[in-house]
Amino acid sequence: MNSRNSLTKEQVSRLRYMLNNDYSYRAMAKAFDVCTDTLKRMLVREGLAEFDGAKYAISPLHKTEQRHWARPCLRCKDDKPRPQWQYICDKCKSSVDVNGLSDSYIEAMNNGDGDVEV
Ligand SMILES: [Zn+2]
Repeated sequence: MNSRNSLTKEQVSRLRYMLNNDYSYRAMAKAFDVCTDTLKRMLVREGLAEFDGAKYAISPLHKTEQRHWARPCLRCKDDKPRPQWQYICDKCKSSVDVNGLSDSYIEAMNNGDGDVEV
């Protein structure tokens, strides 16, 4: 796989030419002897095209990767990792007697205490 090598000017202009002439990504990938995913990454990297979704983003962070914290649950002190900003565990959250405490209310109560994991 040579996808990490940057493209020559010639290759870039060839890509641009193919884009302008409505080549399919599959055809372009074939011309460059890469798979379509690699081709799309090449296009993104060269600024020739943009694609929706993190799949083709240059950033290593995956879209579904969410920050977690091990803050004890406000109700039962359970400290299993939860998605950050979720103050009560799923078990308590789904229990019936939440006393009408909404996440945003709890969040407001806890504003500024500074023990957020970064
Ligand atoms: Zn809990």
